[in-house]
Formats: sequence, C-alpha cells, structure tokens
Amino acid sequence: MLLQVLGTAAGGGVPQWNCACPGCSGARAHPGRRRRHASLAVRADDGRWYLVNATPDLGDQIEAHPVLHPGPRPRQTPIAGVVLTDAELDHTLGIWRLREADTLEVLATAPVRRAVDGRLNLGAVLGPYTTLTWRELERRGDQPLSAPAGTPAGAGLRISAVPVSGKRPRYAADAPEDDAWAVALRLYEPATGRTLLYAPAVAAWSDALHRAAAEADCVIVDGTFWDEEEPRRTGISSRTATGMGHLPVDGPEGTAGILATLSARCLYTHLNNTNPLVDPAAPQHKRLARLGLEVADDGMVIEL
Ligand SMILES: [Zn+2]
Repeated sequence: MLLQVLGTAAGGGVPQWNCACPGCSGARAHPGRRRRHASLAVRADDGRWYLVNATPDLGDQIEAHPVLHPGPRPRQTPIAGVVLTDAELDHTLGIWRLREADTLEVLATAPVRRAVDGRLNLGAVLGPYTTLTWRELERRGDQPLSAPAGTPAGAGLRISAVPVSGKRPRYAADAPEDDAWAVALRLYEPATGRTLLYAPAVAAWSDALHRAAAEADCVIVDGTFWDEEEPRRTGISSRTATGMGHLPVDGPEGTAGILATLSARCLYTHLNNTNPLVDPAAPQHKRLARLGLEVADDGMVIEL
C-alpha cells in the first residue's frame, strides 16, 4: 500500500489566514513549516488513488504531488474518489473542487452522508456537473462499519471504520446523535496483508479502536493538541482538548503513552496551529522520538 501525505494541519491550516499566533507567524516566516489541511492519498492496486478527506487546499495538494496529476489523455485523472472520516468542513469542502470529474465516488458513514448531501447540498450542487456515487460504511452487528463488497470499485482495498466520536459539525449541531459522526478508517490491502488506521479526530480511546490499532501496520492519529489545556491557554477556546473532541498527545489523557505500546509505525497528524509541534525546533519532538513516535509531514510518502 502506498500513501501520500497531502496535509497534516487541523482546521485553518498552518498558517491560518486570520491568525498571527506564533505557529502561524512562524510558518509565514519559514514556508517550510507550512502545513495544509490534513489529508492522505492512498494508491489502490489498480493504480488509482483515493483521497482520504477532501480539504479546502485540495487544488494545491493535487498540484504539489505529481502522482495525482492527470494524463496521458487530456482529462484522464488517477483520482477515483474520496473516503471521509467525518463531515467537518475542513475534510469535505474539497469535494466541490472536483466538480470537473466525469464520475466521483464518495464513501462515508450514514450521518456523514446525510450532513454533506443534505445540509451542504453536495449532490444537488454537483449533480449538474458530475456523476456522484455515494457508498455507505454500513453497520453489521457489532463488527466495524464496512464498505459494501467490491467497493471502492476494483480498488483492491477493503475499507472499514471504527466510530471514534459522536461530535457533530457545527452546521449540523441539531442533527440526530450517532456514534459514527467521526470514524477511524481502516484500510486493508489483501494483496499485501497490510493495514493502515487513519483517525484525524479521536474523542475517546475505545476498546474497538485499540483492537484496530493493535492490528494495524501503520497508525496515523489525531495530534490536534499537545496537551489538555492548550486550547484554553492559547485563548482559542474556553474548552479543553477533550472538551473539543480531541484527545491530547501528552498527559494522563494523552495518546502518546498508548501509541508507544503498539508495534505499528505511529504518526501524529491534524496539528492545530497552537500545537508546539508545528515548530520543528520544539523540544516536544524529542519527547515523541524517545517514545518511538513520529509527526507526519506534508509530502511524506509511506509504503506499507
Ligand atoms: Zn495561528
């Protein structure tokens, strides 16, 4: 399985257009520190690529990665579709950028589909431009949510999902409760037996999530906040990290101690611009390295 990391920032990116915090200012002064919104591209065995979340930066992210460029025919694209972890604007707005596609497949859980298709009107808006096909990550008993057999079509990937958060996007705050508003995606490639677990938002570390992480070869998870108090200390919110739906990296609630016990290669992504990890010189990087953990970078290629 081949993964291309397209972005590693939480909502707003680094720098965020209206923010002059140290992380954002640092990225303006040092363009190498820039992080686009968190997203991955995953190559299936037929050579096509699936985007894991479609961000507002998608146009730039495609141009920055030649494997996603079109050709050899004038309108031939290697991008087959989009798999969503949740319905947040930062993970879905890029779908509209793909309106020039002939066809587009979007895979998501039922509440995410209802939010994006219903409240954001994706199907009604894109329908006149492209053929949009929704595939649902369905619940089957107590098994992880799974994609219908044979989808993504011919991709050689089996996609399932573990619920990780019932947090609804603000635009759907009054929508019905559901534990599958945000999921950890499990991408399994039968040809190689390799599994990726991708979870850019983790509100609680459940037993099901732990089992999925323990079975994976690579785990890429929520690194939004370094510690529980970061949102309050930096003045971006009156809530804590977990109050905002993100387990912090460090501290008693933190995920670093859990990830350090896994055999998988573990990387953090979805860094908020307040997270000290956006500064490559921050001592927190050494703390993680001592635990055998990594911070994903834009442009990173991961082969499993
Ligand atoms: Zn900032």
